[in-house]
Amino acid sequence: MFDTEKALAILVCPHCRGELQPEGQPVTGLACRACSRVYPVVDGIPRMLVVDDPLLKEAKDHWEGSPHFQYEAHAELFTRDYFEEQDRWRANEVDPFSMEIYRFEEVRGKMTLDIGCGSGWVVKSFARHGAYSVGVDFTERAVISTAAALQTYRLPGMVVQADAQALPFRDGVFDRVSSIGVLHHIPDTQQGIREAWRVLKPGGNAIISLYGKLFFFNPWLFPLAQMVLKRLLKAPKVRDGIQHTANYDEFYRLMDGPTNPIGRYYGKEDFPRLFADFTITECTTSHFPLRFLMIGKIPVSRFVPRWLHRWIDLNFGMMRNCQLTKGTTRQA
Ligand SMILES: [Zn+2]
Repeated sequence: MFDTEKALAILVCPHCRGELQPEGQPVTGLACRACSRVYPVVDGIPRMLVVDDPLLKEAKDHWEGSPHFQYEAHAELFTRDYFEEQDRWRANEVDPFSMEIYRFEEVRGKMTLDIGCGSGWVVKSFARHGAYSVGVDFTERAVISTAAALQTYRLPGMVVQADAQALPFRDGVFDRVSSIGVLHHIPDTQQGIREAWRVLKPGGNAIISLYGKLFFFNPWLFPLAQMVLKRLLKAPKVRDGIQHTANYDEFYRLMDGPTNPIGRYYGKEDFPRLFADFTITECTTSHFPLRFLMIGKIPVSRFVPRWLHRWIDLNFGMMRNCQLTKGTTRQA
């Protein structure tokens, strides 16, 4: 299951970027030849996460307790039914109007990386579209789910547990990098973007989605929006923190649960600075969470025609999806 040759071709020490030496047969660890750190390989997954920042630990603990999709899934975890439910959930609930941002049709024969792979849907989808698909996440729950997705469908790829701020990959190994709704949850978002840029090939492209500024993020509209949301929003228990948010700077942090330590958002004016090393080719809006709005027990979406839902999603969604390319020389 663990492909040592493939792993050594792309992995380096996340601490010092030294070359790695496999240990054991079958491989039980990867040792850095430069700094001597040893990274265990457990269940075919290199564990290359170094947590020495208390804020990073708090973020990791939060997402271990509130894993992407797993809290919404009905099927038994990591079974074929679970992964099929995941496909329906993405197509019908999460991405009904945003499938094209992933550009799956472009990845055939390419080496792809999904940073913050969560339950593994993007990694699985890249692999199904013909990529060698690599996923990285800092939680145990996420890397197990993603590795199970690849294994269930016998898809080509690899999963690594690591910190998005210190990726254990060589410079310029990926043709396409994605990170969907992740980098605003780590201690240093800009460092996460720098790492995405570093591991991307010159001429390669990336999709990075971050929380955008919502239309009601101003002192006048926010109290009204909050009143409406308190009545209509019925998020699962682990994510009910929004009920208690008093100001919009806390909105995204609490929306992902009361124990979530980090949830930043960015205005349109912030993106040129965040992605200064890249060329931004397109930025779109998506992901309006209509599925969480209920009148009593009836979902609001039942009263909203599809064309209107689409218009709301693409104009008032939470995510700003930036399509990026890496030039052959670093920009000023
Ligand atoms: Zn090292």
